[in-house]
Amino acid sequence: MLTRGNFRAPVIRSLLIIMVIIIIAIPQLNCQNSQSQSKTELEQLLIATLWFQTSAEARACYYQAFRYAKEKLDEIVESKEHAQNLAVIVDLDETVLDNSPYFAELIKRDIMYPHLWNEWVNLSNAKATPGAREFLHYAAHQKNINIFYITNRSEKSRHETLKNLQRLQFPHATDEHLLMKIKDSDKELRRQIVENDYEVVMLLGDNLNDFSSVFRNKSAERRCALVDSLQDQFGQEYMILPNPIYGDWLDSIFNFINNMSPDEKYQKMIRALKSFDQTNN
Ligand SMILES: [Mg+2]
Repeated sequence: MLTRGNFRAPVIRSLLIIMVIIIIAIPQLNCQNSQSQSKTELEQLLIATLWFQTSAEARACYYQAFRYAKEKLDEIVESKEHAQNLAVIVDLDETVLDNSPYFAELIKRDIMYPHLWNEWVNLSNAKATPGAREFLHYAAHQKNINIFYITNRSEKSRHETLKNLQRLQFPHATDEHLLMKIKDSDKELRRQIVENDYEVVMLLGDNLNDFSSVFRNKSAERRCALVDSLQDQFGQEYMILPNPIYGDWLDSIFNFINNMSPDEKYQKMIRALKSFDQTNN
């Protein structure tokens, strides 16, 4: 016989089942959403990393920059009477060290930086970028120039970073010539430390921050305007290497906001594009 008590029991059971389904389903829906958003980021990373790793054009850019840097050094040293205190400052990542296998691993595992960064650095296994070792040896041994490595890798990875440079047989790979990140990514103070004892004749990097702090935390438009106004420095004192994978060029589009959602980032990127007006003849 159906009583009020045994009528309620199946209703309550059904409600409980519905609640359990909702509790299980909502996080999965959210997860699917964030997965598809991060897929967009990973696809962007995929194209940039593929270009860096597989395009012959990328290699050609490196050879071109280092060859030109070598010729410029010849000119500079020839013009100096006292060449013993000359220095060249080089950035590490994506300037003389190739971390593209790290980004390839991120893509394959469907994860983003900073996951696995420490694991990658601890391997001390980054290869030299094309032409980097030849340039550094030429500068150090043929031109008697002091090489200083200024990087924004953290101090705690000093040992592994130095081991990597030594494995690649880069010249002057010692603690004294390796300046790790101090408190923020601004390299000005570290450049000054080198300038206290040496005449810095050339800087090489893949990010404008590797040359001067005037470029720091500026909008994409401002960075372009600054480069236009300082164009004579490039190919003279400043030698720039290509990096489509990451850098201030990309962060400036996001106003240097770290915690922006993938969707917001995508919208910022679309808004940053300059297209054309078909009706304007
Ligand atoms: Mg770099």
